[in-house]
Amino acid sequence: MTGTAEATAGTVAARADDVVKTYGSGDTLVDALRGVSIEFGAGEFTAIMGPSGSGKSTLMHCLAGLDTVTSGQVTIGDIGLAGLSDNEMTRLRRDRIGFVFQAFNLVPTLTARENITLPLDIAGRSVDQEWYDAVVDRLGLRDRLDHRPSELSGGQQQRVACARALVGRPDIVFGDEPTGNLDSRSSGEVLSILRAAVDEFGQTVVIVTHDPRAASYADRVVFLADGQIVKELRRPSADDVFEVMKNLDVAAPSTTDDEAR
Ligand code: ADP
Repeated sequence: MTGTAEATAGTVAARADDVVKTYGSGDTLVDALRGVSIEFGAGEFTAIMGPSGSGKSTLMHCLAGLDTVTSGQVTIGDIGLAGLSDNEMTRLRRDRIGFVFQAFNLVPTLTARENITLPLDIAGRSVDQEWYDAVVDRLGLRDRLDHRPSELSGGQQQRVACARALVGRPDIVFGDEPTGNLDSRSSGEVLSILRAAVDEFGQTVVIVTHDPRAASYADRVVFLADGQIVKELRRPSADDVFEVMKNLDVAAPSTTDDEAR
């Protein structure tokens, strides 16, 4: 398998410039993001962490073009999202972004093979068979391709979702709590796959997680608190991440689950 890490070194896969996101108005106004600037280098694995309500999902949704920003700018590759029409945004998401969700989001009536190629089929893009084979084999899905999601374990379903995200060679893969529904063994498998996608395929990966062990697979962990980036660690251990989270939780007692959403 040939990685593209060398080719992407130094390139920025996505960036946010002074992104502000406000929900509601008047008494119900919430400042979800208060001026977030961050770059995601191509071929890097980043984890976004922070207390509940700190803005993690909002940041990911704004970066992935699933939500609009109130002010500031998001750029994917060399394309600024501001001013894109709905159609252009849909095409950008389809062609340049891969998604892995907590709830797998596979189509129950389709086989693993059909789920993996579905985004390409919808886009009318042809499947690069060599790349498809490389992804399927690397993710250990070869003997599961004719199974439907209900015939697969949670870990296997999430591996299918990872294959689906990777098969189109997107600029960036976003994972929204990708291990949130998995036991620790399956979590480890999925995180190893995302790690390998970065190391072996040169893929750029950004996940939101609340699990310090999941974050420890990342090259870089970015911490949000109250809508702002407050800290960043490079190649931390799970213990390092846990320590920071403990302090953030103490420092932000008002951002509890009750208040989030
Ligand atoms: P996290 O992912 O870190 O838990 P979120 O990004 O979901 O945080 O939320 C950040 C803040 O924005 C919270 O105060 C939350 O209540 C608020 N928020 C998120 N989505 C919405 C929405 N659609 N409408 C109103 N407020 C929202």
